[in-house]
Amino acid sequence: MRRKRSADKATRGGVTDRLRTQDSELRTQNFPFQHAAAYCILHIPMHRVLLLLPTTTYRTKAFIEAASNLGVELAAASELPSTMEPLNPGGLLTLDFLRPELAAERAAAFAARYPVDVVIPVDEDTAVAAAWIGEALNIPHNPPSAAYTAKNKLLMRRALMKAGLPVPRFHSFPVGADPLEHADRVGYPCVVKPAFLSTSRGVMRADNDLELVAACDRLEKILVQKDVARRGGVAATEVLLEQFLPGFEIAIEGLLTDGRLKVLAIFDKPDQLDGPFFEETIYVTPSRLTKETQDAVALATEAAARAMGLVRGPIHAELRINDSGPWVIEVAARSIGGQCSRTLRFGRELASLEELIIRHALQEDVTSVEREELAAAVMMIPIPRAGVLKEITGIEEARRLPGIEDVIITAHLTQRIAPPPEGASYLGFIFSRTTTASEAESAVREAHRRLKFTIEDSRQ
Ligand code: ADP
Ligand code: CA
Ligand code: CA
Repeated sequence: MRRKRSADKATRGGVTDRLRTQDSELRTQNFPFQHAAAYCILHIPMHRVLLLLPTTTYRTKAFIEAASNLGVELAAASELPSTMEPLNPGGLLTLDFLRPELAAERAAAFAARYPVDVVIPVDEDTAVAAAWIGEALNIPHNPPSAAYTAKNKLLMRRALMKAGLPVPRFHSFPVGADPLEHADRVGYPCVVKPAFLSTSRGVMRADNDLELVAACDRLEKILVQKDVARRGGVAATEVLLEQFLPGFEIAIEGLLTDGRLKVLAIFDKPDQLDGPFFEETIYVTPSRLTKETQDAVALATEAAARAMGLVRGPIHAELRINDSGPWVIEVAARSIGGQCSRTLRFGRELASLEELIIRHALQEDVTSVEREELAAAVMMIPIPRAGVLKEITGIEEARRLPGIEDVIITAHLTQRIAPPPEGASYLGFIFSRTTTASEAESAVREAHRRLKFTIEDSRQ
């Protein structure tokens, strides 16, 4: 599959150039005059990328394709053992991402037999493990403390405040404490959230005492769930209160190199997110904000990442912009989640985000890489209500609409589903690609109107 690499990639330097040479050498090996060169090439070890893939990720395929396009060898680590592991000992391993120090020890034992050049995490939990593994393997990495900070919103708020960056008023208290004793520290409206979850799980707005008490009760029920408590550890025992920040929300995707941010894309979130819950829906790129505002967003993101100690690799941040400028909601030490990376393509060869992440991890200079000219949008299809998913219609019709690239349903029929704050998934994803951002946005909205979901009450 890596034969698909196009000729114009030859203009790029670094790793890909070397890989390309390797490629063409292999292709031309039959010509006698190439033998000497081919012989030398055989002595250049192939790069092995250790990918940390939680079993719940949607990104496996995209990363495998990217590695194959680049001709790098992939070793995939997951938290559950694969039955294929004995058949492919250099390509598969099991690591407990929630015990990063232990994961680092095991990864080091693995790397002693199968040398690893870089380690790439796909989410926030694995980012912590990646930092420890990077340290153990003596390969470039973020400091583990920075990865922890990025995973814990309370630590993140403290780091930003300490660096003198704009932060909403915030305060934390133990789960089960009387929230009304703490409400004054932040005031209303406020946002109640867990320190460590994602996809807006457990994130709720409260405008008064009554709503605050209800929100804290609701959050407690989420935090005591066994898997959530295990994943969160001590972070599952605290509630974070934040001042509600009004404003227009964007997401920014980027790569850090020695603390410098390369912006890959800024996404507008055109659906106003004012609560009481904060389900993600549409992301559209390019952003329609002014260049000045986009630059301010990039600067604020870079400053926040630096304050947290993040220095390298992908970041995905969310910011709100109001009259006082950009405010960081969070900076995660990972790339965009779900299947949303499909919206992004880079350079003339339309490289995927995953490919760019691997190239960057292998030290390629990506400063001049630009997203394609076309606009793109993705809708994370919201779950209209809790229940059991019975039927979905209109998918084919939605797919045929102009500008629509794909409609993917990730929820299963008969699956019990719930919107936030309890739920942490979507029904699927709608992708569009057109000439302008507003067309891309309209296209996903139109496609969404064609989809009909039948959801039945789950309590019989
Ligand atoms: P998660 O990690 O689950 O995505 P976030 O902290 O990013 O949690 O919150 C999810 C969403 O809730 C944000 O994208 C934003 O829309 C909203 N939100 C979170 N904190 C605030 C805040 N302090 N003010 C206004 N909105 C907020
Ligand atoms: Ca998050
Ligand atoms: Ca978020």
